Amino acid sequence: MARAYNQAQKFGVEMAIPDEVTSLRRDQDNRRFILTLFNGERIIARSVVIASGARYRRPSIDHLDVFEGSSVHYWASPLERKLCAGQEVALVGAGNSAGQAIVYLASKVAKVWALVRGRDLASSMSHYLVDRIQSLPNVEVVTHAQVTGLEGADGLLEAVRWRVGEATAETRRPIRHLFLFIGASPNTDWLSGSAIALDAKGFVLTGDAAGGDRLSLETSRRGIFAIGDVRAGSVKRVAAAVGEGAQVVAALHGFLADRRQILDEVTDVPSLHTPA
Ligand SMILES: Cc1cc2nc3c(=O)[nH]c(=O)nc-3n(C[C@H](O)[C@H](O)[C@H](O)COP(=O)(O)OP(=O)(O)OC[C@H]3O[C@@H](n4cnc5c(N)ncnc54)[C@H](O)[C@@H]3O)c2cc1C
Repeated sequence: MARAYNQAQKFGVEMAIPDEVTSLRRDQDNRRFILTLFNGERIIARSVVIASGARYRRPSIDHLDVFEGSSVHYWASPLERKLCAGQEVALVGAGNSAGQAIVYLASKVAKVWALVRGRDLASSMSHYLVDRIQSLPNVEVVTHAQVTGLEGADGLLEAVRWRVGEATAETRRPIRHLFLFIGASPNTDWLSGSAIALDAKGFVLTGDAAGGDRLSLETSRRGIFAIGDVRAGSVKRVAAAVGEGAQVVAALHGFLADRRQILDEVTDVPSLHTPA
């Protein structure tokens, strides 16, 4: 990060940390974009790259935050797998990420309780993962399940309770690690009013999906690009986000080269950072 930061500065990047963008719109002449910051400052730009990512969803379970960082996990790396070796764990979710994590954890833990809100795994998970999970003797899939309580002390989980369907009775298991894989919501609230097309879940559409003859990372508004987790259909991984960041540079060069011809005729280079 430090090296990337230094290199960006060498290329003349101006960093503003911390700053939150609250809105994006066109200027009156329809030639530039205006980004308004939380502190009221405005950034004027010829082009914008949206890279505001996504936040991972948290279910509403009482005291969840108490156990986060120690017993509640949003990913399953070798570290978590080692922590749980030989134990029972619970995993909430039914998408492909959940499926991969179930298979991964099952190779080291005593038992995985896969808690699924819907009626089956197949409606939201790839068949190869469903088949794999069904072949694992130490995975028990519980459908129509909802976590109803977490028990423990000093931030360490000791038991997880869940309920199935409308039943009033709860199942309680001595579980010290709970995994949550229930998807992500895009950080796109700040784009409301920008007229940038989003998909049904709020992720930014780009390329063909954005309509017209858009470039591959260009949004429905010419000159605005989107990369990384915030982009609809992107692979939600670091390497993919970084790759798209490199790829968008070429698209920006192309866009600005075309644009410069028009802008040079009408105005000077704009001031970039203006106070409120
Ligand atoms: C817990 C967890 C574990 C993960 N583990 C892995 C892993 O092991 N391997 C892997 O490859 N990927 C992993 N991922 C996914 C990976 O983190 C993402 O794919 C990657 O960070 C996406 O990069 P991004 O730049 O698109 O978004 P982000 O990294 O989310 O960055 C977006 C940034 O934009 C900022 N932002 C949002 N809104 C605004 C606004 N209005 N104004 C200003 N700034 C704003 C956010 O604060 C954030 O800093 C993990 C993700 C999570 C949450």
